[in-house]
Amino acid sequence: MNTLVLWLQNAARWFAQLLHPRRCALCRAALSVGARAMICARCAPRLRSDYRNTHALSVPGADGADAPLLYTGEAAAALKRYKFYRETSLCRWFSAQTAACLAAHHADWRPELITYVPLGAGRQWKRGFNQSEAVAREVGKQSGLPVRATLRKRPMQGKQSHRSARERQRAAKGVFCPITQNPAKGKRVILIDDVVTTGATAADAVRALREAGASAVFVLAVTRTPPYRKK
Ligand SMILES: [Zn+2]
Repeated sequence: MNTLVLWLQNAARWFAQLLHPRRCALCRAALSVGARAMICARCAPRLRSDYRNTHALSVPGADGADAPLLYTGEAAAALKRYKFYRETSLCRWFSAQTAACLAAHHADWRPELITYVPLGAGRQWKRGFNQSEAVAREVGKQSGLPVRATLRKRPMQGKQSHRSARERQRAAKGVFCPITQNPAKGKRVILIDDVVTTGATAADAVRALREAGASAVFVLAVTRTPPYRKK
């Protein structure tokens, strides 16, 4: 009886994949029916040669930083698709990459809590979700670490020239500030970001986490812009 149920389940999955083929996370090519990998045979070697970040990442003020992927080519295009169209299969793929990167640092970083770079209220409302939070939640599931909100974005109003002195002062204090009764207090914290470019935004979030009382802060970005030109 159980064998029959299993057989039926497999057959149903096979037909579902035939009707709605799963697509390669990077290039969107249809994956062969029954395939378990999330990227196609053409992209797998390119992931290793072109999209894997192998260079040290440093974020000012952080105790450590790393990113599994380079923000370039199809990896960058896939991240944009994830961000703007909220493709859940892509969220799983990016999260798996990020969780593997965290696992490589786990013994050294000894993290106790995962948090994420917040979006401004307006942007989050428009987009419907925070891409860094969604990755953080998946990485939390895979690593067994709790995931908490710790930061918020200060509201920015108008152009610099139209701002009052008090608003300019607030802007100079940084983009992010800690929420009250902060869960990061006394904890070794992983900060998840989607792309690290200059590191300035991540550095500001690190500063706010220190202000919240975090005992150590590590930045884990899904992607980083390439530190050099790839041929
Ligand atoms: Zn592909």
